[in-house]
This record gives sequence, C-alpha cells and structure tokens, in this order.
Amino acid sequence: MISTQVIDEFFAWAPLTVLVVILVVVYVLTRGEKQFSPPIGKTYSCARCARRGVREHMVPVNVEGAVVWYCGRCAQTH
Ligand SMILES: [Zn+2]
Repeated sequence: MISTQVIDEFFAWAPLTVLVVILVVVYVLTRGEKQFSPPIGKTYSCARCARRGVREHMVPVNVEGAVVWYCGRCAQTH
C-alpha cells in the first residue's frame, strides 16, 4: 500500500519536476542570449503595433506636437 502511494506521488510530481527543469534550462538559455540583444531600457515600443526595437530601427513620427516611435514597417505605411 505504501509503495503504491509513493509511486503514485512520484508520477504526480514527475511532470512538475520535468517542467521546472525545462523552465530553468530555457531561463538560462534566454538569459545568455539577452547579452547579445539590447537591454529593455534602450528599446522603444512601436506606437502602432507595440513591437519593440532598438532606437536605430525605430522611426520618430511627430503626432500633434508629440514624438512617437514607429517601427520601420509601420512608418512606411504611416
Ligand atoms: Zn509597428
């Protein structure tokens, strides 16, 4: 009875453990990649589609005296 309970608990928790391991691996991998991409503070989000991009890829557009940033794709259709 006890051994069956242990096995049941193991298989109940195993998927969670695997999920946690996968999340940790993904977190480590994405954190390593972020060193090559600009930090969030130096990116602008597009005023039309909310896509984020570095300043060089964004286009300032003057809308009623206020400057908003569009991505290259939205600036072309503006
Ligand atoms: Zn856009």
